[in-house]
This record gives sequence, C-alpha cells and structure tokens, in this order.
Amino acid sequence: MNKLNSKKIFLSPPHMTGKEEQFISEAFDTNWIAPVGPHIEGFEKEMALYLKAPGTVALSSGTAAIHLALDILGVTKGDVVFCSTLTFVASANPILYQEAEPVFIDSDPISWNMSPQALKRAFVQAEKDKKLPKAVIIVHLYGQSARMEELMEICKSYQVPVIEDAAESLGAGYKGIPTGTIGDFGIYSFNGNKMITTAGGGMLTAKKKSHLEKAKFLAQQAKDQADYYQHSVKGYNYRMSNILAGIGRAQLLALDERVEQKRFIYKRYEEALSTKGIEFMPEYEGSYSCRWLTVCTLPMDNNPQDVINNLQSHNIEARRVWKPLHLQPLFQNHNFYAHIPGNSTAEMLFDRGICLPSGTSLSGEEHRFVIETVKASLYEKSAQGAILSNL
Ligand SMILES: *Cc1c(COP(=O)(O)O)cnc(C)c1O
Repeated sequence: MNKLNSKKIFLSPPHMTGKEEQFISEAFDTNWIAPVGPHIEGFEKEMALYLKAPGTVALSSGTAAIHLALDILGVTKGDVVFCSTLTFVASANPILYQEAEPVFIDSDPISWNMSPQALKRAFVQAEKDKKLPKAVIIVHLYGQSARMEELMEICKSYQVPVIEDAAESLGAGYKGIPTGTIGDFGIYSFNGNKMITTAGGGMLTAKKKSHLEKAKFLAQQAKDQADYYQHSVKGYNYRMSNILAGIGRAQLLALDERVEQKRFIYKRYEEALSTKGIEFMPEYEGSYSCRWLTVCTLPMDNNPQDVINNLQSHNIEARRVWKPLHLQPLFQNHNFYAHIPGNSTAEMLFDRGICLPSGTSLSGEEHRFVIETVKASLYEKSAQGAILSNL
C-alpha cells in the first residue's frame, strides 16, 4: 500500500473559497465587529434567496435555531416533542432545555430518515393517551431528505407543527423543494464540518414572517420597543456575528459546487465498493441528496469499529453512524417507536454503518487510497469461514 498517509485525511474538513478574507476585511474596514452589521443582513437575504424562503435569521448555532423554534411554538415543561432517533444529540438537546419530553421515532430503510409508519403509530398512541406532541423534529440525515410528503401529511392531520433539522442537508431537496423549507420551521448549521461553514453558526427559516420576527427578537435578549432597556419575556444571546456572516456569504457562493463535488465523491465510492457487498445510503425517488457524508453499511460479519480502526492506523478519519438517541444514557426511559415493532432500522444502521471521508478538497489520489484501504479492511467470506482479506 502506498504511503500517502503522512497527511491526515479528515471526514469533512472546512473548505475555504479564498473569498472569505475579502468579506472579513470589509467587516474590519467598516468596524462592524459585532452581532449587527451589513454582512448579517446580506447573508440572511442571500440564504433566503437560495432557499426560496420568506426569510431567514442568522444565529450562533444550529442548536440555537432549534431552541428558538421550540420556544416560539410554546414548547414548555411537560410537553411532548417527537424527534428522529437517528441523529446527532443536538437535534434533541433543545427539547431538554425546555424541560419537555422527547419521544423518539425510528428510521425507515428507504430514506434512513424518519419512518412514516412509526410516526403514525406514535400519533395513534398519543391520541389515545390524550397527549399530542407540541412539535415534531424531522432530521434530514447526512444530506438526504426525509420522506416529507408522507410525514407532513401525518403531522398536518393532527395539526402539529414541524421543525426540519436540515443542519446536514443544505443543498439537498425533495421534489425540487430545498430541505428545511417544507415544514413550519427549518434550521441549518455552519459548524466547521457542515456543507458550508462560518467556523460556527446557524440559521433559522420559517413559513410565517411573524415567526422570523419573533426569532430575531428572542435572539437579541427580547428587548421591548422602549427608550430604555425593558424586557417582558425571557430572551437569548443567539445572534451571529457580522464577521462570521461575512465568511458565510463567501461560502454560500460555493455551495452548488460543493454539492456537485460531494455527489461526485459519493459516486466514486459507490462504483468502487458496491461490488463488495457494501450498501450505500439510498437516494430514493423524488429526493436529491447533497451527500454531506458518504455513508454505507458493511457486509455482514464486518465490525464497523474494526474497519474504522484500520482506517485510523492509515491516518484516515472515518466514523460510526450516529448512535440512536433512544439508546443514549441521556435519554433513558423515553418512548421509542420502531419502524416495525421490535425491529429498529436505526439500530441496524448503527450496528453496521460507517461514514467515509467526504471532504470536498479530497484529491483523486487520496480518494483512491481511502477506497483501497476500505477494501483491505473488509472480511471476506470463504468456504472455511471469515478471513481478513488483508492478512
Ligand atoms: C450539526 C448538527 C446540529 C447542530 O448544529 P450546531 O451548529 O453545531 O449547533 C443539529 N442537528 C444535526 C443533525 C447536526 O448534524
């Protein structure tokens, strides 16, 4: 095996365009070094245009955006919120901030995202218990849209609002509509490893203008309209800084190119590895994935941790699929609805899945090296049983 591994290959490192400094300089030159300023307004307008959304609010993180959406929907102590189980903990932490109770919904094998049939069962039970959820948080995992048509229909029939967690799926769509703009609220993240980055940051979009105005108000300590500092409700310090918004504007210019690059990276993995019994996250009909990460399940008899450790020894970063939230010690004793009762898709994906390096600055040579190392890390079934193919 070649020795390309002197330089570490990361999972999804930031990829600068070279235009960021210009925007940052502009912020310095005009002394807008604050959570107010023209880049924030510019970034919000440009994102709204990209998303074809009524507006957006730039915030300090994606987590803050989820928190504000829950707050605006009046989620409070003792309320129930349904949430995808196969996701990063940030999707559900804000439910705890509000002292509400998360109930976790399984994935389905078609989208790897929220299972409409599990959601339906959760609603039927909630109706019987006379305790409908105050909101449903639907995650678009790894750049792939959830089955929004079916999920929205169920939520609408119970008149429960939807928050789309599109932190990983900026640039993805469902039937031509950008993820995050289908439900009542959508959130995005600009953390270091996401589709585009501002070092750290997030954004909220909403169907209703009044919700966007409320979000802006709450994100700046909820200051009343008065000549002095007067406050009638609880607020937060969640606004994005003008400097970071400048970075975001430059990054947004490259988003479509990043999506193409990520899709190309995925395609090469798929061509090279699907003959090996590896199965990739499907892009089901009607969806358009931005392939934030290339994610796959390994053939039976392969332990994802062994493969990850082997990649690690070659200086390649790979990761497990998110551990489902209903299995987390943090969320013990919360209800969970499986895709098929007793048969959880999310648990299977966690047991067998890995995320492969998907950085858009990955060179062709590095990519070949990763692919060869993955191949060499797999167990191959022989008549005698399983043997490690790279021994
Ligand atoms: C990254 C991420 C978030 C949180 O975004 P931050 O900007 O890091 O707060 C939320 N949900 C999912 C699914 C994420 O991957």
